[in-house]
Amino acid sequence: MSSSTLSYVQPTANSPWGTYLSQVDRVVPYLGELARWVETLKRPKRALIVDVPIEMDDGTIAHFEGYRVQHSLSRGPGKGGVRFHPDVTLEEVMALSAWMTIKTAAVNLPYGGAKGGIRVDPKKLSLKELEKVTRRYTSEIGIIIGPHSDIPAPDVNTNAQIMAWMMDTYSMNVGGTATGVVTGKPLHLGGSLGRVKATGRGVFVTGREAARRLGLDLKGARVAVQGFGNVGSVAAELFAEAGAKIVAVQDHTGTVINDKGLDMAKLVEQSRKEGGIVGFKGGDTVSNEAFWDVACDILIPAALEGQITAERAKQTKAKLVLEGANGPTVPEADDILADRGVLVVPDVICNAGGVTVSYFEWVQDFSSFFWGEDEINERLDRIMMNALNSIWDKADHHKISLRTATYAVACGRILMARQERGLYP
Ligand code: GLU
Repeated sequence: MSSSTLSYVQPTANSPWGTYLSQVDRVVPYLGELARWVETLKRPKRALIVDVPIEMDDGTIAHFEGYRVQHSLSRGPGKGGVRFHPDVTLEEVMALSAWMTIKTAAVNLPYGGAKGGIRVDPKKLSLKELEKVTRRYTSEIGIIIGPHSDIPAPDVNTNAQIMAWMMDTYSMNVGGTATGVVTGKPLHLGGSLGRVKATGRGVFVTGREAARRLGLDLKGARVAVQGFGNVGSVAAELFAEAGAKIVAVQDHTGTVINDKGLDMAKLVEQSRKEGGIVGFKGGDTVSNEAFWDVACDILIPAALEGQITAERAKQTKAKLVLEGANGPTVPEADDILADRGVLVVPDVICNAGGVTVSYFEWVQDFSSFFWGEDEINERLDRIMMNALNSIWDKADHHKISLRTATYAVACGRILMARQERGLYP
């Protein structure tokens, strides 16, 4: 057994943890002496699996499986969202937690990486059941989370209301109001202005800069967006405001296209009212596979992992891929895109806007002093631009992809911290 094989997961080449391991392997030649510590990145520090039993509205008892994985705490407390989805697995949460470690280091936030999830379809729960699942899960992982140890946040299918329940449950258990235990909270409970739109805004800011460097004019640029949640819809709106045409959108209900550009305000309204975009009158509803064939300049995967497969990497017409989702591109597809000259702004920088404003929220909670939205957006844009520019320089210098350059910068920081702290005892 190789030393990086864990007994409790069996990743495949394209599974989330397998994808992450291959991304780490690619960075080793650029780590110098720190490569000695690389095994640290291939083993989550701590993984907790919890049973989440609740009494359903019909009186039956249901059990859900929940996880919290702290991948690395070398640079600070764990940080990362909580996902509610029927396909959540330990392996997926491990990969998501590892990507948080890389992401927080890439933008130089004083955090490690963590992630949580419950294998549940929240759309099948009543509001009361959702609250019970959230509270019991929070209580179960309460032994490892805290404002100075690990700070959850929203992710797929979780939102400010769920963060409010998490904050309240943790606070009840410790006997005091602990606003700093989660981020992405409602505004009047210690939330931050700008947090809801932060991830989509970061995708736009990094995308705009990448497009400028490629000589791709955003005015009239054709954009295809997969995922129309908090990340995809906000990014799409910002690109549309900048003069781009959103020619295709796909969500969990289906795919709509319009060669002249979809009306974002109307699409957002339909999605909110009807729970999805399928059947939108301002475009044609097409098959989900047709999404990957659409003539576009910019492709924004903003849904789940593993969406850009080798096949789809060959198919896409895009010149620029902006990874709003975590882990949307499998390693083989990454190589195909590179060979085809398609530039990929990797997830660990492209979607780091969310955790960056989460950091601002956490800082504001500790000082109980809240900033204005302009100040937040200015600081966010500056952090994203600085991070992207230094990664771009690294990529140019070594003639490597932006992903490997981001890993080189981030892993250098993580492993330097690991080395300086040393092994205990
Ligand atoms: N879930 C988001 C992500 O994947 C945000 C995490 C956070 O704010 O801690 O980056």
